[in-house]
Amino acid sequence: MFATSSQTCHAILEEVFGYAQFRGPQQDIIEHVANGGDALVLMPTGGGKSLCYQIPAIARQRAGWGVTLVISPLIALMHDQVGALHEAGVSAAFLNSTLSADAAYQVEQRMLRGDITLLYAAPERVTSSRFLAQLDSLFERGQLSLFAIDEAHCVSQWGHDFRPEYRALTVLHERFPTVPRMALTATADALTQSDILERLQLEGARAFVSSFDRPNIRYTIVEKRDSIQQLLRFIEREHEGDAGIVYCQSRRKVEDVAQTLVEAGINALPYHAGLDSRMRQDHQDRFLREEGVVMVATIAFGMGIDKPDVRFVAHLDMPKNIEGYYQETGRAGRDGLPAYAWMAYGLQDVVNQRRMIDESPAGEEFKQGLRGKLDALLGLAEATDCRRVRLLAYFGEHLGHDPQATAEPSQDMSTFQAGVESTAAKPAAARYRCMNCDNCLNPPEVWDGTDAARKLLSTIYRIQQSSGMSFGAGHVMDILRGKATEKVIQHGHTELSTFGIGSDFSEVQLRGVLRQLIAIGAVSVDAQAFNTLQLTEQSRAVLRGEVQVQLRESVSALSSRKGKRAGAGSAAIKAPIALDGEGLVRYAALKAWRGEVAREHNLPAYVIFHDSTLAAIAKRAPQTLGDLQGISGIGSKKLEAYAQEVLRVVSIR
Ligand code: ADP
Ligand code: ZN
Repeated sequence: MFATSSQTCHAILEEVFGYAQFRGPQQDIIEHVANGGDALVLMPTGGGKSLCYQIPAIARQRAGWGVTLVISPLIALMHDQVGALHEAGVSAAFLNSTLSADAAYQVEQRMLRGDITLLYAAPERVTSSRFLAQLDSLFERGQLSLFAIDEAHCVSQWGHDFRPEYRALTVLHERFPTVPRMALTATADALTQSDILERLQLEGARAFVSSFDRPNIRYTIVEKRDSIQQLLRFIEREHEGDAGIVYCQSRRKVEDVAQTLVEAGINALPYHAGLDSRMRQDHQDRFLREEGVVMVATIAFGMGIDKPDVRFVAHLDMPKNIEGYYQETGRAGRDGLPAYAWMAYGLQDVVNQRRMIDESPAGEEFKQGLRGKLDALLGLAEATDCRRVRLLAYFGEHLGHDPQATAEPSQDMSTFQAGVESTAAKPAAARYRCMNCDNCLNPPEVWDGTDAARKLLSTIYRIQQSSGMSFGAGHVMDILRGKATEKVIQHGHTELSTFGIGSDFSEVQLRGVLRQLIAIGAVSVDAQAFNTLQLTEQSRAVLRGEVQVQLRESVSALSSRKGKRAGAGSAAIKAPIALDGEGLVRYAALKAWRGEVAREHNLPAYVIFHDSTLAAIAKRAPQTLGDLQGISGIGSKKLEAYAQEVLRVVSIR
């Protein structure tokens, strides 16, 4: 058996997957693993992790090393992954609880005969004594080629998705120490990383850490007004007919939003843990298989959804922390084509999230940690500089400093002082502009809210002094702005020295100030007492003018944008590359044909061909088999299986 050359790996990339080039670090990883090296692969969602084990598996199988075992917790995905490999002409199978005993037995027999290149299995299956005995038999014959442990962060208690059954995977290196192992994950944080290394005994493995930047995702965070209407306009303006995910916090809201979207003619479906499992499964299948479905969901949805053409992820409520935000938005644009991460955020989000932490039964130290994480996210939402710089800085990556720099995860929150800056100099990186986030594309006006903040805090103070009571945001705002409402008069608050001292500021401005003050902990909201506002330790520094409060000027998020894109009528079809009229007709015909094939094979459409592949075909208008050569995404098996039909479909247009 020989070392696997770089030509071999590249040949597999072209021949089997139909791609001309490796992406990012894929080549290094694949060659290292194909030659029997252990590896830890950290790559963002959509980075192309699957090929990192699939190509070594194929190369090693061809060189006589036998079967690769892929361990994944995502049972729901295995069927489609194996289906995609079949489409590419690779022998693959899965073993999980969805198979009947008889079907599982058939798969085991195929594996023992050496008929399978990649076997996907759930961790509890892999560590069962029956299965281990079968692995023993393969191992003894030198037919156990590689272990690929996907979603490896599940082994760590620090990860957000700890799965105890992953712990038992230590048996693999204990029992089969000479079989190469690789662990793959899209979770970057340092604790999780070191846990993976230790638990899976990968200390000696080569670590491949990619940049976590997702340059094709455009980050936008708008101020919440009427969020459902804002969402509707966002979809109508930017994403007509596109597949997307809308995240909401509660089940109730999921239902409401889904219904509103449906009434507006959008193909939307709800998904949350309160729906019965059959309906959930059905909605998930439709999202994966149909085109242009918008899934309105709680965070129960998304783990293991590897649909590549999700064009937008919208948040109608703020997640708990940046990890969550990054993971959820990361589900957009896996195919590398332009995609949107859009969030509407407002005062209520800050209040709700703080309250959930305060009311949780956790210990104070743990809560403090949660608050720190929330603050980092609030800082991102209130930021007036590049969102991408802030996001990546959170994961220890510094854009604009060193383009080659890779992630060096840290949980240092010090760079996350909201829009609030103690007058210390900004880090140089803060001036970097990615030109693909709202703040870079449309730099917000910034105003100095320090004075307004002090007036607001004094008002809260005076109210409390005069009446010994606390009041909510609306009442405080009325006093500040000098509005003599019935309630204000009734409590004698027109007499306060602060009555009307904020009349120069608009209510929107004052709400922005209040949001920031809550975000930095200079005002707390008492959930037990009708959401009344209270001063805190940190209020003093603001009152003394030691902390500057920088705010974004509220521009109507809706007014300034241009109208619809030309030609984006409801029946119009959008292609990922520029196509002329005839090209679009061919593209539409190809999509319709692909839909039929996908239904016949019971697979999602993108498994047959990606949109980008269909668009490239439509553009080339091929007449012969030769014309199809070299189009990205057409491997030799697909060429053989589909070329004739593709030529027929494009020729009749
Ligand atoms: P991950 O598991 O890291 O989220 P995937 O392995 O699902 O990412 O890959 C994301 C998408 O990118 C897939 O649709 C895959 O076909 C595509 N892809 C991966 N590598 C390449 C490549 N070298 N060239 C073109 N497309 C690629
Ligand atoms: Zn930017």
